[in-house]
Amino acid sequence: MTKHEMPAKAERQQGDNRPQPVCGLRDWLDHLSVRDRLAVIKPNVDLKFEVAAYAKRLDGQRATLFPRPSGHAIPVVSGIVSDRLWIAEAMGVEPGEMLARFQDAANNPMPWVEVNSAPVQQIVHRDIDLARLLPLPTHNEHDGGRYIAAGIMVVRNPKTGKQNVSIHRCQLTGPNRLGVLVLPRHTFAFHRMAEEAGQPLDAAIVVGVDPLTLLASQAIVPIDHDELEIAGALQRRALPVVKCKTSEIRVPAEAEIVIEGRFLPDVREPEGPFGEFPQTYGTRADREVMEVVAVTHRKDAIFHTIVGGGLEHLVLGAIPKEATLLTHLRRNFPNVVDVHLSPGGAMRFHLFVKIRKTQEGQGKNVILGAFAGSFDLKHVIVVDEDVDIHNPQEVEWALATRFQADRDLVIVPESQGSKLDPSNRDGVGAKMGMDATKPLAAEEMRFKRIRVPGEENIDVAEVLKRSNIDWRKALKS
Ligand code: MN
Repeated sequence: MTKHEMPAKAERQQGDNRPQPVCGLRDWLDHLSVRDRLAVIKPNVDLKFEVAAYAKRLDGQRATLFPRPSGHAIPVVSGIVSDRLWIAEAMGVEPGEMLARFQDAANNPMPWVEVNSAPVQQIVHRDIDLARLLPLPTHNEHDGGRYIAAGIMVVRNPKTGKQNVSIHRCQLTGPNRLGVLVLPRHTFAFHRMAEEAGQPLDAAIVVGVDPLTLLASQAIVPIDHDELEIAGALQRRALPVVKCKTSEIRVPAEAEIVIEGRFLPDVREPEGPFGEFPQTYGTRADREVMEVVAVTHRKDAIFHTIVGGGLEHLVLGAIPKEATLLTHLRRNFPNVVDVHLSPGGAMRFHLFVKIRKTQEGQGKNVILGAFAGSFDLKHVIVVDEDVDIHNPQEVEWALATRFQADRDLVIVPESQGSKLDPSNRDGVGAKMGMDATKPLAAEEMRFKRIRVPGEENIDVAEVLKRSNIDWRKALKS
């Protein structure tokens, strides 16, 4: 393997004038700061609840940076991607191009490049007391303890050596011990392979990466697709990685902090509860255990945390899921224009689909297609092209004026859903689809939305300047 010096920025082809993606966490914090979206909170805020309280109150409006939280030398940052429009900016695309850009990167990964020395290994600790080394916060009221919530977990397939990258909630359960929720996906598969061989599984938790690497970790791609290569594709450069100090795992060289360790075979210990994306608690139960053997970090490291159930948690999962669902639906329905996982549906359970309807009955086929695309989906609403699916009030309006329950409703009982939906029975529940498209044959005026000609040309800012002048005087002049 050839080793390179650290490439500085995204490599740009000559004549490429597209806006460039933002590649590093620090560059991203600069990007937010100059746009007045980074609030620096007073020093010494408490890691227990107070960090999360500030982050939650400013969720979606400002990222929050906490100097010396509970007196800790390492600052905490939160809420760095709590708005989908910010993700489009990080990608360097228009909001309407975001899903297509993500899918393109997922389909065309870019191999990483290994570097010899990395900022993330400036400091190396081998005597591990995580609570002393890192500012680990407690977020929601009944969380089981301190958590690493924004770490990307990198593991390797014990057979092929291919890496997997995903985010897991990791609870501090001892000085060098973490309880980790490992849902049955790729990390789970590698863990069980190692366990069957009686071996520990090496793992690295990387904290403090850029928005695009976070997003790439959520890509829905087959096993043995290294999500760091998707991060590279999103960044339009070969992602610089460095080998861990204690394993063969390669981690982003420009990250802030890496926690190196291994999952112990045949060990399960209690983890949880933890405030999750549906705004309810994930339960406490026996979970996989990671033993930490080293921590490396930058000299002036920053610790990133994601408040469970906050917008950052929701948005990061939603964009890759929307991109995958859009691609999935378009395979059968090329007239699907756009999809959106709405905030009110925890950005997992409710899908709004915009179609250019060409056949009567098509709305229901699209509903069934969507449910086939993701078992997490619970309610799907299909609307026409004139409805803004990013505005829940507009979708509700479409239901109010274009939907009849006896004719346009689809219910599928006893199907697989999310185990984190507290209203179903351990992941088994009902699906509901609502076709809120108007009939193709309807006479034009019947469903036509009213509008006032010229309304869109009024300069509201200009009008508001005159809203507090003396109206009596104004009428006389
Ligand atoms: Mn994967």
